[in-house]
Amino acid sequence: MTSDLRELYQSVILDHNKHPRNRGTPRDANRHAEGNNPLCGDRLSVHVTLADGVVRDVGFEGQGCAISKASASLMTEAVKGRSTAEADELFRAFHALVTSDPRSEPDTSRLGKLAVFGGVREFPVRVKCATLCWHTLRSALADGHVVSTE
Ligand code: ZN
Repeated sequence: MTSDLRELYQSVILDHNKHPRNRGTPRDANRHAEGNNPLCGDRLSVHVTLADGVVRDVGFEGQGCAISKASASLMTEAVKGRSTAEADELFRAFHALVTSDPRSEPDTSRLGKLAVFGGVREFPVRVKCATLCWHTLRSALADGHVVSTE
């Protein structure tokens, strides 16, 4: 990764940390789950308005480190309007990215802006920060309960 790209990625993460998108509970939300990453102290809840198998709206609340907040913010943007199957595919691609070998060339073709988290794979302790919101979203879409990444 070039240092220019690294800086761009960092600035996207900092921006979403400072100005999180889709904060709060959407109107008509009918699913929610709580997520907890005790290693870092990240806690968040994800609220979804699910209709006909599509994520019509999604929001999140909670507290955590910059990575966990920025990840939740970017995730809500990425999955809004997508089917649960598409959201699942995104999760899989995202998870594969952040857990891939830092020496390998990452496949970010389907990830769009979520590719900014590629740098996380160099910091294994941060992987749970980045994936917490996704585990919580999947739980909300499945049935809604408390998830812990521990
Ligand atoms: Zn964290």
